[in-house]
Amino acid sequence: MTTLIPATLIPGDGIGPEIIDATLAALDALKAPFAWDRQIAGLECVKQAGDPLPQATLDSIRRTRLALKGPLETPSGGGYRSSNVRLREEFKLYANLRPAQTIIPGGRFDKIDLVVVRENLEGLYIGHEHFVQIDDDPHAVAMATGINTRAGSRRLLEFAFEHAVATGRKKVTIVHKANIMKALTGIFLETGLELYERKYKGQFELDTVIIDACAMKLVLNPWQFDMLVTTNLFGDILSDLVAGLVGGLGMAPGANIGADAAIFEAVHGSAPDIAGKGIANPTALLLAAAMMLDHVQLTEKATQLRQALDATLNIDKVRTGDLGGKANTAEFTQALVSRI
Ligand code: NAD
Repeated sequence: MTTLIPATLIPGDGIGPEIIDATLAALDALKAPFAWDRQIAGLECVKQAGDPLPQATLDSIRRTRLALKGPLETPSGGGYRSSNVRLREEFKLYANLRPAQTIIPGGRFDKIDLVVVRENLEGLYIGHEHFVQIDDDPHAVAMATGINTRAGSRRLLEFAFEHAVATGRKKVTIVHKANIMKALTGIFLETGLELYERKYKGQFELDTVIIDACAMKLVLNPWQFDMLVTTNLFGDILSDLVAGLVGGLGMAPGANIGADAAIFEAVHGSAPDIAGKGIANPTALLLAAAMMLDHVQLTEKATQLRQALDATLNIDKVRTGDLGGKANTAEFTQALVSRI
């Protein structure tokens, strides 16, 4: 008998429930052994529970340590903090893993296979910001404090290096700005170089590059990179840049991995402009589900799902409107399931 793996399922807002249904259909066809605990979060949830991230949802993730989630909208006004940031903090999701692979060949950048590993909890993202008043201008000066710790940098770099070894990456590039932000990003660079020398030397090639040069090199010749590992803000920007190289956010999955849980999601938002129309592209969430299968060591099923997606998009040429196709979400899902 197959042992079921408990996992939390959060459909989320906007197109979330539509792409979650498509993903569940594919996972069912794969006979993926997840025992789903369906929970609510997001804008709808504020109406029902008075909180975009209710305690029952947090308790579920604490129990299962594994979640697949749709996009969450944070209500503007009302003093709500971003649910995504709260989840990162609550479960110490220190690593954000964003692979970018060419899925539909023939575009401007073909045969891309890159992964960005972003530190997810420290840096300039911690939100220590304030204004200073001068004379009658209360916003005369804006100040932000970034914090990177050696322990936090090491934890993330160790995760990235282990992932590089486990997935056979040949080269890892540390992205920094230590020429200017000598302390804030210097500590990350220094920790990475030291960790590599001590524990990983010879297992892959290690390179370093300054963030601005990295952005240019990614656009001129992305094939020179294999894995990029970097601090929070640079990672935020670079992971969208590499998503752009392979067709945009609609094709980009992401994983937030931490000490206490791992949460898998599409990188795009709730797409309110097309919500409820049944035309959303579920590819990004399906790729996130493949990452989740890898995470629980069901790698054969992960490969099967990626191959079925490839066949649906490139052999059957069944595509949703955002990719220039004519299929709606249900037709795309049906075509995918028939390929599993
Ligand atoms: P968005 O990603 O929702 O939409 C941007 C554009 O891309 C829209 O035109 C949309 O229709 C299109 N699009 C996105 N995903 C698509 C898909 N799967 N298929 C077809 N088209 C797709 O970005 P936004 O409009 O800036 O954000 C909307 C809401 O989502 C905001 O409330 C934002 O805070 C939230 N958001 C949540 C997450 C998350 O939960 N991880 C991430 C980003 C944005």
